[in-house]
Amino acid sequence: MSSPTTAPDLILRNGVALMGGELQEEPFGSLVVRAGVITAVTRQQPKADGTPELDLRGAFVLPGLIDCHVHFDLAAHPAAFLQWERAPFVRSMTCFHNGLLALRAGITSVRDLGSTDRMTLDYSLQVNSGRLPGPRVVAAGRPITMTGGHCADHGRIADGPDEVRLAVREQLADGAGVVKLMATGGISSPGNPGLPQLGVPELAAGVEEAHKAGVLVAAHAHAPQGIRNAIEAGVDTIEHAAFADDDSYKQMIAAGVTLVPTVVALNPIADGIGIPAATVEKSLKAREIYRANTAKAIAAGVRIAAGTDAGTALNPIGCLLDELIMYVERGMSTTEALRAATVTAGPLVRRAGDDVPTGILAVGARADLVIAERDPRADLEVLRRPRGVVLGGRAVDLGWVDRTLAEVAAVLAEPPT
Ligand SMILES: [Zn+2]
Repeated sequence: MSSPTTAPDLILRNGVALMGGELQEEPFGSLVVRAGVITAVTRQQPKADGTPELDLRGAFVLPGLIDCHVHFDLAAHPAAFLQWERAPFVRSMTCFHNGLLALRAGITSVRDLGSTDRMTLDYSLQVNSGRLPGPRVVAAGRPITMTGGHCADHGRIADGPDEVRLAVREQLADGAGVVKLMATGGISSPGNPGLPQLGVPELAAGVEEAHKAGVLVAAHAHAPQGIRNAIEAGVDTIEHAAFADDDSYKQMIAAGVTLVPTVVALNPIADGIGIPAATVEKSLKAREIYRANTAKAIAAGVRIAAGTDAGTALNPIGCLLDELIMYVERGMSTTEALRAATVTAGPLVRRAGDDVPTGILAVGARADLVIAERDPRADLEVLRRPRGVVLGGRAVDLGWVDRTLAEVAAVLAEPPT
């Protein structure tokens, strides 16, 4: 198998950069990358010195996209969580396949918010070290939930502050770069998504342990009481918030908490295609209010980072663009939607001790980039198939990615039983 990458020094010529926190348009003669970091964006044309070069001929360059909520060892099957009971070989190939799907979609970093064991943590070690082609992954390990709580079948059950503390320490010891705590019920598992689950003392113990290690905490929380509990406990992001109310948004803003909506996840849910009946019923009941509440969160000015819950039923890795389009349909400008998947998301995928910013096109930032044929602010659809992807200063060979995706798909079509 050939490598999809070239050397980590690179010069991009004759493009238009979407720079800084505001994605400001800046035509450039050269964008210089040394050792994976952007060192210059200028009108000048440095002489060729043997560094690999790409002439963009007027194409746009923006920060690599970030999906803040995925499940890389799920395969978007209708009964998605059965995947967690399949052979380790199938699950690890699924991670590899999903990583390539992400790169193909211009996604250069993800947060993996929960698996049933250390599969995605192990995968993250391989891709983050550069040994395996795939986006940078910040993984949660096992999600932490109460007895009978959301994902209790596959998560790390913990009851009481001491046990939550222990459960968080276990994930951190396994290499988790983010911690996932369940603050309410869910839509894709038995139970009422409107009810609170882990309480404030439990959530606070988990947050204290994670923050001691410099690790951020994501709380799965759909409804007001659970959202309030999670914010009071000091979590960093609220996932979903399908049934949030106006007070929820005020609390998020006051606490500086980021919302990760994942509103695209319910789009493909329908009867008769193999999705468990209880999930279909709850999803269809929730869908309109979830969409309306996402619009309210946008209007209220909540800080939003893009996430998709990809891997869940019929919601494949790479659907991030559709999530962004849903934000635009609900009140964001295209620039704000792109910011949700880049500059706003960047701090959420930064690991403790990593002082190189990501999710932003700026001198000193990691050279994770997407090359688009035209200005994506004028038409997000141009990101459906990016012209190029740069990962840590390496130009990804998208032809290799396409061929390998086909090969891995053939393997996954006839897996061992
Ligand atoms: Zn999820």
